[in-house]
Amino acid sequence: MHDIFDEIATLKARENATILAHYYQEGEIQQLADFTGDSLKLAREATKVETSTIVFCGVHFMAETAKMLNPDKRVLLPDLRAGCSLAESCPADKLARYQEMLRINGRRFQTVTYINSSAAVKALSDWVVTSGNAEEIIRRVPADHEVLFVPDRHLGQYLEEVTGRKMILWNGSCMVHEIFSVGDLLELKRRLPQALTIAHPECPANIREHSDYVGGTEAMLRYVAGFQEPTDFLVATEANMLWQLQSKFPRHHYHPVPGITCACNKCPHMARNTLENLRDCLVNGSPEIHWQPEFQRAREVLQRSLLN
Ligand code: SF4
Repeated sequence: MHDIFDEIATLKARENATILAHYYQEGEIQQLADFTGDSLKLAREATKVETSTIVFCGVHFMAETAKMLNPDKRVLLPDLRAGCSLAESCPADKLARYQEMLRINGRRFQTVTYINSSAAVKALSDWVVTSGNAEEIIRRVPADHEVLFVPDRHLGQYLEEVTGRKMILWNGSCMVHEIFSVGDLLELKRRLPQALTIAHPECPANIREHSDYVGGTEAMLRYVAGFQEPTDFLVATEANMLWQLQSKFPRHHYHPVPGITCACNKCPHMARNTLENLRDCLVNGSPEIHWQPEFQRAREVLQRSLLN
């Protein structure tokens, strides 16, 4: 293990590279990254990177976002097949047809798009949000416009609840957050009645309503940081988040919500990145994310939404 850590450190220096890793990456990848974070934090960190190369340990739309915000940098993704079921649930051509249908029907709306989407979908949007800034951005949509929220219907429902604003919701979801079992969660709560449940807003309503706190991964870290005494937390998000919680706040005890420790609650797309293909992408300078025509319009939307 240490050999490959040393090898990656040497290659990183040789290639003048910075490694960014999402909280849903395996702990060993988070451990050697220069920066870890959720989508919003990593997108912002990417704009501050001083090296000529960014290696993005996350999924494709995240590396694409880093490239759009840093056109002059070389952006590498260890495995180009690291996709996202949520992003795939909203193809750009289908969204364009739906928007056209709404316009023909005289609806005035702005499209608010979760960052888990392709560049082509971002280019069709008025705003791009993450779970960290969605509430604030939705409040910027003029009151005389409807909100078309894509692609995650569960996050959209949650945002309807917290902003009080009815929205047109796209019918997409994340394959990882959708499969927590509410029955097993309730059983765990019975066994650990003192525990607090924290859930990601991509979880369905039946999980959120049994949770003490709902927030994105960065918000979860802030919430947990507020407890000084050792506390038990039941965690309903992707399994690797437990590594980040454990390493930052080891005074607490973390229990995965049932199902989270089995392969079904680990994101199979995130899991495509390994230490070996991280090393190989530094050796080969590929796979690389190349600039695409739709990136220019998507970049404008990203900058307006995430950096201002
Ligand atoms: S956890 Fe869900 S939303 Fe995140 S990358 Fe995996 S499939 Fe996409």
